[in-house]
Amino acid sequence: MPELPEVQALAGDLRARLDGRAIARLDVVAFAALKTFDPAPTALQGLFVEGVARHGKFLDVEAGGLHLVVHLARGGWIRWRDKLPSAPPRPGKSPLAARLVLDDGSGLDITEMGTQKRLAIYVVRDPRDVPGITRLGPDPLSDAFTVDAFAAILAAAGRAQIKGVLRDQAVIAGIGNAYSDEILHAAKMSPFKPAAMTDEDVRRLYGALATTLRDAAERSDGLAMSELKGEKKSGLRVHGRAGQPCPICGDTIREVSFADSALQYCPTCQTAGKPLADRRLSRLLK
Ligand SMILES: [Zn+2]
Repeated sequence: MPELPEVQALAGDLRARLDGRAIARLDVVAFAALKTFDPAPTALQGLFVEGVARHGKFLDVEAGGLHLVVHLARGGWIRWRDKLPSAPPRPGKSPLAARLVLDDGSGLDITEMGTQKRLAIYVVRDPRDVPGITRLGPDPLSDAFTVDAFAAILAAAGRAQIKGVLRDQAVIAGIGNAYSDEILHAAKMSPFKPAAMTDEDVRRLYGALATTLRDAAERSDGLAMSELKGEKKSGLRVHGRAGQPCPICGDTIREVSFADSALQYCPTCQTAGKPLADRRLSRLLK
């Protein structure tokens, strides 16, 4: 799933490609992905793109006072096409969910892989008409996200596990499963640690959060959307790397599995060498 750094880079790439172009039409192929009906997608026809923004993990293409908002979710992606086929796409088994056609015949395909269909597309007059955007907590790359603001957020979260707090979009916008693993590894902190922590721990985590996200955003900046997934994967130190050596200490990276996700961590760096209980694994061993 693309998170803050990738969505930020996607917005930058799209801005360069879309700015000043007019929208010929939006073809919706996967109708369940379109979450709004007024304004209709046809309302975008003929409007000039005025900007592309990011809200948390949401992409926002502004055109003529309307907003095409896309949440890529787990399996969603955007592919640039220099030349789109002239015939409108038909619903079928392809991953194509929607296609934005521009006045010069170029445009983009919004796709979704996998069986869990969670990609969401909205056509709205104001991005705040999207419930997921209204609910967003502060953006961790904004000036307002100070160490004091972060300390207040963690204190309010109390005994909740820090891993869940970091990826709760209503608490902090834009961090998902991958970067929360990376941030906690950089902070040498257990994913199960309660959110309310000492000032010293807050500062260490704040520093790790800022560095991890800014580094990833910088690495992704200026890349074309086709290059972003590979860049994200190669930049990760623990996430998705169970069984591989930790790049800091050499210990084997371990994993805790949940119903539909998993977290990865380094025991030596993060949990004083003790492996965390993995309920799925323990069940298998019984
Ligand atoms: Zn380590």
